[in-house]
Amino acid sequence: MRGFIFDLDGCVWTGDVLVPGAGEVLALLRSQGRALTFLTNNSRARAATMQAKLERLGVQASVSEVLTPLEILGRVLDTHVGTTSRVLAIGGPELEAAVVDGGHSLVPMDRYREARAVVVGNDFDFSYARLTAASRAVAGGAAFLTPNLDPRLPVEGDDFLPGCGAIVEAVAAAAGLRPLVVGKPEPPLFELALDRMRLAAADAAMVGDSVDSDIRGALRVGLTAVHLAPKGGHDGVAHYILDFLGERRRVAFVTAASLHDEDAYFTRVASVLGAPPPEGAGLELLHLRWNDRPQLVLARAEALFMGGGNTYTLLKRLRESGLLPVIRARVEAGTPYIGASAGSNVAGPTILTTNDWNVVALEGFDALGLVAFNINPHYKETDPAMAPGSETRDDRIREYHVVNANPVVGLEEGAIARVEAGIVTARGTARIKIFRRGQEPTWHQPGEQLPVEA
Ligand SMILES: [Mg+2]
Repeated sequence: MRGFIFDLDGCVWTGDVLVPGAGEVLALLRSQGRALTFLTNNSRARAATMQAKLERLGVQASVSEVLTPLEILGRVLDTHVGTTSRVLAIGGPELEAAVVDGGHSLVPMDRYREARAVVVGNDFDFSYARLTAASRAVAGGAAFLTPNLDPRLPVEGDDFLPGCGAIVEAVAAAAGLRPLVVGKPEPPLFELALDRMRLAAADAAMVGDSVDSDIRGALRVGLTAVHLAPKGGHDGVAHYILDFLGERRRVAFVTAASLHDEDAYFTRVASVLGAPPPEGAGLELLHLRWNDRPQLVLARAEALFMGGGNTYTLLKRLRESGLLPVIRARVEAGTPYIGASAGSNVAGPTILTTNDWNVVALEGFDALGLVAFNINPHYKETDPAMAPGSETRDDRIREYHVVNANPVVGLEEGAIARVEAGIVTARGTARIKIFRRGQEPTWHQPGEQLPVEA
């Protein structure tokens, strides 16, 4: 990576305090000659203000290395509304200044009917009167713009302030219309950041803590996305697990894929998922040992989590212990199933698309068949560490399709395929690539419904 784009709130600072280690990481990247850009969705501050805060906290940065939605607000108004537009601005003084410096003029609140556009940012003096003016102007035909839809601003002590998005949603609900988003996750700010660094998206990475703004936006323009999440925090894996499990908390965790110390593996996972929220998921994990009365443990569990390791070993042990048909029946009866790595492989009809070696000389590769597609976990389209001319995953999946007909779902690290009532949805923090026999593969972003049969 020749350049890095850093989100500010939650990545470089929280409130007025540097995130531990952020200063050191940024200084190291700079000493290595890598380009840096700071890209915030802040709706109240322009680049100079953010740059001054970075300096105050001891992070070296120039004004041109900082981007906020206010930098491009004037241009977006030019394009979508027209030059020299009359604008009702709901937000801080820097939002108003950005409108004026962009060649537009401000409409006082009591003359909201004259506004051709309404821009709503985070407004610390928001009131019912402002909500009335903004929503009536939008309902009456004025263009509706906002720097961002982020619902919260993280501050010190794991706390938050309501974000711009919380106020925008009030206006949107009253007006019955959705806003045009100027900042992340829309592409323009990311594209401007790449322009300033003179880099292509393939040569840069975005570091962010918001899946909705930073990660989704970065993936849309082809950047590598680095998700900064507190262990099991709101955007971490615990969040997705709890969302999937609903009210259920007693989960059997299967360590049969591990050829190493299964107890140590269980303890490690239990310490993460068993910790109370927000750090963990607050689950009551039961250790399901394939060779020690596994069906008793399964009978007590409300859900099943199949851990990772060697896929051939896992399938061999599930078969030898008689668990394969038992688990299939439980899941068909409605018990939620979560699989990681090898645990996701065995959910498909076969494990033929695993990345593992058959170190246990397993014969026969039919698996649980909970879904109709095969899975390739830890999918990578390209891998610079591979010898030149090596077979890629895509090559191997093409070979699979010479002799097999069902789709293969490639999960990049951090991607989740959630299956519910026959509908498959992409979740998590990375992309999913779907391979179909005789067709070009397709990429899918978190949040999309996937075009495969469950
Ligand atoms: Mg952030």
